[in-house]
Amino acid sequence: MITEDFEQGPIRPPDEANSLLIRITRGCPWNRCAFCTLYNGVKFAIRSVDEIKKDILAAKDAYNGRPVDRCFLQDGDSFTMKTEDLIEVLQALKQAFPSLKQISSYGRAQTMLRKSPSEMREIGEAGLNMLYCGMESGSMNVLEKVRKGVTPESILKSTHNAKEAGMGILLFTILGLGGKELTEVHSYETARLISAIDPTDIRILSLASKPGTELYSMAQAGGFTMLSEIEMIEEQLRILKQIDGVQSKYGNYHAVNLLTELQGELPQNKQALLRTIEQFLSLAEEEQMNFIYGRRCGYYSHLHDMQQKDRHATVQKEMQNYDLRQLESLFHTCRQRWI
Ligand code: SF4
Repeated sequence: MITEDFEQGPIRPPDEANSLLIRITRGCPWNRCAFCTLYNGVKFAIRSVDEIKKDILAAKDAYNGRPVDRCFLQDGDSFTMKTEDLIEVLQALKQAFPSLKQISSYGRAQTMLRKSPSEMREIGEAGLNMLYCGMESGSMNVLEKVRKGVTPESILKSTHNAKEAGMGILLFTILGLGGKELTEVHSYETARLISAIDPTDIRILSLASKPGTELYSMAQAGGFTMLSEIEMIEEQLRILKQIDGVQSKYGNYHAVNLLTELQGELPQNKQALLRTIEQFLSLAEEEQMNFIYGRRCGYYSHLHDMQQKDRHATVQKEMQNYDLRQLESLFHTCRQRWI
């Protein structure tokens, strides 16, 4: 029986939609990134091992013997927990759910670096075998501008230690995070860092600034210029072209992205992925806008949906109600819904 005391955090990665969620921390210990609203109003805390174990047993009762193969540890940074406590939690999980194949967690680079390589190995051996890393950018200038509180070097070192400890690495990167001001350095340095890390998975996200965030205020004050949808795709083209030497899954799975068909394996599918981006970028500007409108307003899922003549005509007609500036603002509002 899941009891009233059972805690569930507000966030899980999209990949963990069907996973068992066990909350071991509340909120994010940093909570200062200029673009982030995930844990607004949540005071960071590490839950006690006893509390967590009660939740694990409650979940075990609720699953009633059904096999569970994936578990995600909420919320923002499990590595803030003392190593021996984290190991105790992992052992309790494995005992309650012996069928578990993957236990994953977010981890901040600066926190993970407080653990020695041998502590990381113990954590890996206890069962934590997938790390979600919100790298966002490989550029120090961009990381500083958005107050990420980590450096490219700390991201590289912490993910290296995690890999050595047997963990898979899933990296998130955000298109448009440098704005127009830093788009070149963002794409170049991001591709460079991804190539150096050689993660298991590369996940692309697209920026939208939410009212109430520092980034939104920066944009309003003229200190940050959002990329257009087309500029974000151009940025992705540069990043993907420059990624080199990785064996990774590459995915635009999240609906906030424009071209969700950009999914595949690197290096095998790199040329096909680049061709899809180039196919979009080679459309006439009016057709690019038709696709973006159709995609953002729910008429299209993928590029080939534009070939449906009736849908194309409906989109074309609706778009006539807006000028270019209004369209960009509409697209931004649509992206905001997804973050
Ligand atoms: S992006 Fe991640 S590290 Fe930054 S405030 Fe949000 S949860 Fe914390």
